[in-house]
Amino acid sequence: MTTPPLRLFFALPCPAQLTGDITAWRAGVALEGKPVAPENLHLTLAFLGAQPRGQIEPLAALAASLTPASFILRLDRLARWKNGLLHLAPGTLPPELVDLERQLRQRLLAAGFSLESRAFKPHLTLARHCTKLPGTPSPTFDWPVSEFALFVSENTAKGTRYRVLGQWPLRPQAPT
Ligand code: ATP
Ligand code: MG
Repeated sequence: MTTPPLRLFFALPCPAQLTGDITAWRAGVALEGKPVAPENLHLTLAFLGAQPRGQIEPLAALAASLTPASFILRLDRLARWKNGLLHLAPGTLPPELVDLERQLRQRLLAAGFSLESRAFKPHLTLARHCTKLPGTPSPTFDWPVSEFALFVSENTAKGTRYRVLGQWPLRPQAPT
C-alpha cells in the first residue's frame, strides 16, 4: 500500500513571543484579505512540494549536517505583492540568512530535489488576498533566529496548518 505524499518545506518558525507581538500589531491595522493564522507564521527557506514519506529521514539528516549561524532578522518593510500577499520583509538581508538559504539550496539540489529557480525573497506572510497596502507605517520587529525547521503543510478543518517534523538549532554567535 502506498501512503500519500507530504507537502514539505523548510522554514524559520516564528517564535512565540514574536508571534504575539506581530499578531497584536496586526490586530490594530485595518487589514484587507485573509490573515494568516498565528500558528502558521513562518519564513520559508526552501519549498519541496509533494514528497514521499520516506524522504523525511534523508531531509532531516541533510538539515542536521548544516552548520548555520544564529542571527537577528529585522523585519521593517511592510509590503504587498501583486498576487495579494501582504508581508513583512527585511530592509537589509543578514548575511547569515543568505548563507543558510544557500547552504540548504545547494545541499538539496545536490541530493536531487527540485527547487524553484526564482531568487530568494525572504518574507513573513501576514495576509493573503489583500487588495491594497494598509496606510499604516511599517513596524519594526527584531526576530532572534535560533533554529530552522522542516514542516509538513496539511489540510485541516481549520484550513491549511503546518506541523514541525524536525527542527535544528543555529550555532550561537557571540554578541558584537
Ligand atoms: P494554501 O496554499 O493552502 O492557501 P499555504 O500557502 O500557507 O496555504 P502551502 O501552499 O502548503 O500553504 O505553502 C507552504 C509554504 O510554502 C508557504 O510559505 C508558501 O508560500 C510556500 N510555497 C508554496 N508553494 C510554493 C512554491 N511553488 N514555491 C515556493 N514556495 C512555495
Ligand atoms: Mg500555498
